[in-house]
Amino acid sequence: MMRVRINGSWLELVEGDITQQEVDAVVNAANPSLRGGGGVDGAIHRAGGPQIMAEAQRYGGCPTGEARITSGGKLKARYVIHAVGPIYRDGRSGEAELLASAYRYSMQLASEHRIESIAFPAISTGAYGYPLPEAATIALRTVIAELRQRPEIKLARFVLFGRNAYDAFAAALQALLPPA
Ligand code: ADP
Repeated sequence: MMRVRINGSWLELVEGDITQQEVDAVVNAANPSLRGGGGVDGAIHRAGGPQIMAEAQRYGGCPTGEARITSGGKLKARYVIHAVGPIYRDGRSGEAELLASAYRYSMQLASEHRIESIAFPAISTGAYGYPLPEAATIALRTVIAELRQRPEIKLARFVLFGRNAYDAFAAALQALLPPA
């Protein structure tokens, strides 16, 4: 576990399962149809029950780089924010900007819904194939910038699935922080 102060708020890295988090909102790595999938998406719908899908369907999809919000169903979290990251192609097809946008959009929705604590998965790094080191740097840089501009969000936690993802995020965070 790693925890750093960003202005008055906290940024945390933990290894674990995002469906078990006690935060106001968990972010789902969704696809543009918002109709469910594997990975985090499958886990969130399994744990949260059918209410989440019923609400998500009403949006009729979500463009890549944006996000939509539903209730948390049976999860401990009150909300699920369904963020759509890019499919990684070659790194020169706008992927970095779209990935940053998915995180930024999620933080904006959190702010609008008075969410004070939010948990993110490593968006796009599973089925969508984004290389972990690059994805980690973009995710952390974007969420740190958002925390600085949105002091009402008190906690942003990255919940990394497995040692490999955790280590990539820990290394990226060390590299972004000013030397002690
Ligand atoms: P994407 O399609 O955006 O790549 P995936 O769900 O396939 O989304 O993968 C995104 C990341 O989420 C991967 O690093 C994957 O290992 C991780 N992941 C899978 N299940 C969970 C879970 N229950 N909690 C947190 N992270 C998870």
